[in-house]
Amino acid sequence: MDVQWLLIIHGLLTLLVVVSFLCGQWPIFEGTPIQRIHYFLTFGAYDYFLRFVGFVFGEKAINAILSVEYFCCDRPNPVLQIIYLAIIGITYYFIAKSSFSYIPGYYLSGFHRSSRYTSLLGVGIGVFFFLLTSFADPGTVKAENVSQYQSAYPYDNIIYTEKECSTCKIPKPARSKHCSICNRCVARFDHHCGWMNNCIGERNTRYFMAFLLWHLFLCLYGIVALGFVLAGRLKELRVVYILTVYYGIENSFRKLAPHVVQWLLGSYNTQILLMVFLAVVSLLLASFFGYHANLCRTNTTTNETVKWQDHMNWLRKVNEARASAAALKASINGMSSKRKPPDSKWKTFFRRSPLEDSGAVVKNNIYDKGILHNVWEVISPPSTRRSFLRTKSKSS
Ligand SMILES: [Zn+2]
Ligand SMILES: [Zn+2]
Repeated sequence: MDVQWLLIIHGLLTLLVVVSFLCGQWPIFEGTPIQRIHYFLTFGAYDYFLRFVGFVFGEKAINAILSVEYFCCDRPNPVLQIIYLAIIGITYYFIAKSSFSYIPGYYLSGFHRSSRYTSLLGVGIGVFFFLLTSFADPGTVKAENVSQYQSAYPYDNIIYTEKECSTCKIPKPARSKHCSICNRCVARFDHHCGWMNNCIGERNTRYFMAFLLWHLFLCLYGIVALGFVLAGRLKELRVVYILTVYYGIENSFRKLAPHVVQWLLGSYNTQILLMVFLAVVSLLLASFFGYHANLCRTNTTTNETVKWQDHMNWLRKVNEARASAAALKASINGMSSKRKPPDSKWKTFFRRSPLEDSGAVVKNNIYDKGILHNVWEVISPPSTRRSFLRTKSKSS
């Protein structure tokens, strides 16, 4: 089989796995193999593994694995933090070892001579954002600051009403949530991040966003720089010249591409693998950053998207029930009075549901005060402002 076909099949399979893993739960994939692959990757494979272990080693082994799972997923632990540091360290090591000797090259000029230092600085900044997000206070709600948080985030009485945290025994300010892993209430709670071993909340969402954006930039920079290194090698070793003159291959992109790819895979497979890895990570980072940037733009948290979803579903059901009650009433009234002419077939066909005109459900997010205000709230969290402290002296 030709190399290009192997590459295409490999690319398609990788794409299928990545798309299934990331998007397999989306409604458009319901009932498709993509949904089944998603289930297998996220849950099924682990379930089969547990059953296999139980079958071979007995119940004690299953309990041992479950206790490891409990330690890794339900308790604060540095496992993923260590994995992150290992990934960034190993990637940097392989890039430095495989490619730094080619800099400066044909395309990477003297400016990039210092790239070994600038790239180290780039990685250093990335690790700095990581440490900042991991160890910064996400906005812990305590008895001392709960009243300030309550005035900074008023209850909307839609998805947040005045309540007390049953564990911390203090009032729960709107937008806060009790993190069961960290065992504390966190203001403007977004999610508990296993990679950071910390909650992402009011005070560290800004560092988290900087972390994502910086790592996306690092990955893209890595791909471009490695691409230039390979293009430079191609030029310096006069590969195209050798292929066309010595091997008599036609000088067209279509004819040359498979041979060049084969040559690159043979001689520079480390760089190719690194580029593929960086591309996959960039894709993940870009989608994750895009998702969170949109949340910041609308002043919503990951936690709140779930709450809003539940609330909207509930509203829709209420509206539907109201509409069907009204329809029933109208039909009872209609039976006693003159009969209405039936709707035309086309009209019935194009109407999605008989309850369609039951009134639209609107999301009324009182915390969304315009993009500038919303982004500023992430950059400068209320609890870091002077006015936040002054609220205390007023109430006490
Ligand atoms: Zn709590
Ligand atoms: Zn947490």
